[in-house]
Amino acid sequence: TLQGAALDARVVAADHDRVLHSWSAQAHLPDFVVAGGLGSTVWNHEGRRWLDFSSQLVNTNIGHQHPAVVEAIREQASVLTTIAPSTANRTRAEAAERILARAPEGMRKVFFTNGGADAIENSIRMARLHTGRDKVVSTYRSYHGNTGAAVVATGDWRRIPNEFARGHVHVFGPYLYRSEFWATTVEEERDRALHHLERVIQAEGPTSVAAILLETIPGTAGVLVPPPGYLAGVREIADRYGIVLILDEVMAGFGRTGSWLALDQHDVRPDLVAFAKGVNSGYVPAGGVMVSAEIAATFDERVFPGGLTYSGHPLAMAAIVATLDAMEREGIVENAARVGRDVLGPGLAALAATNPLVGEVRGTGVFWAVELVSDRDTREPVSAATMADVKSRLLAAGYLPFVAENRVHVVPPCVITPDEARQGLDLLAGVLSDVAAAGTA
Ligand code: PLP
Repeated sequence: TLQGAALDARVVAADHDRVLHSWSAQAHLPDFVVAGGLGSTVWNHEGRRWLDFSSQLVNTNIGHQHPAVVEAIREQASVLTTIAPSTANRTRAEAAERILARAPEGMRKVFFTNGGADAIENSIRMARLHTGRDKVVSTYRSYHGNTGAAVVATGDWRRIPNEFARGHVHVFGPYLYRSEFWATTVEEERDRALHHLERVIQAEGPTSVAAILLETIPGTAGVLVPPPGYLAGVREIADRYGIVLILDEVMAGFGRTGSWLALDQHDVRPDLVAFAKGVNSGYVPAGGVMVSAEIAATFDERVFPGGLTYSGHPLAMAAIVATLDAMEREGIVENAARVGRDVLGPGLAALAATNPLVGEVRGTGVFWAVELVSDRDTREPVSAATMADVKSRLLAAGYLPFVAENRVHVVPPCVITPDEARQGLDLLAGVLSDVAAAGTA
């Protein structure tokens, strides 16, 4: 039996031979193996270790292999591993209770899904059925998942080869560093983005618009923390035209921003909240929609025409209950806030002040983006080749990164210790200084 580096090589060969991977040309897959992990660290079969500054796809908020969550899954498996969604089940009811305890005011019920995309899919469906309208307004700088309506609501490049759903309209959201509105202050950016949103809705015909769908903080698009007052302004526009406001908290939710939900830091009351990822750190696939009392009531006497075989799957529900209880008990959300405030925020600001490649850093909690530019004045993004160089140097240094376009997203688990956070920042600063010194950006 193979071990160590030989086993890693065998796993890569077998995987690349038979597994068709997401979002990739299959002839150009990376050969990175993860055999195990604990907390903020992962390792391969050879025993090489990496600090996980990606949280995988920004989902392992509670870190790898949290013992209480692993045990809860084991325990649930010994009692009941699966059950139809139509039955009442104790673990599912407890999961809904735990989620609603952290939900914004006015939320009444939870519809469970298998992940984030189908949470978006069903929130759009609820908004359409509730309003009797069709169109969904979302932003170009967004990612909402890889299914029918979710991928077309998505603004980024992944939408374009998949545009088979109807009724989707896109707008630009606020992003001062690369303003679409010639804004030079946060207030200008906010006000002009709101004006643009309202004008698009007016031009589309407000009575045809079912929903405004926004990531509370657009994540994959660059951790674009909205200006103070922006989301409250969106709420006002939604109210003015009878439009449902859906907030996508799939990436930003459950501790990532240093609060339970990202929306807790903004003055906004959504009608529907889509969640997944951090709700149970992806230990068992799960997602869902928090539903306001008003929208829930739409389906009191009328059939909700939606469902999934694994909606409220007991193993996923047990993982949710255990994850949220452990996060509460161990102060994990507070830890994310503290690490962001005391270590990542100041550390990244120092990096921006000293490294010429860094155009801007922004974020909150354990949710940050470092935007790399070849020229700080023109803000020209660094090339794809430079990003590939940054990524491979980080991996070689023992730092597992999340890279998107010209950015490194600094998104470790919410359980990361201040020491680990400093260690990761040192590795990142070292690599970016080597790349700057190489002068190829
Ligand atoms: N919404 C947001 C904001 C996301 O970041 C993602 C995934 O990255 C999704 C939706 C889709 O979630 P899933 O991949 O679980 O379908």
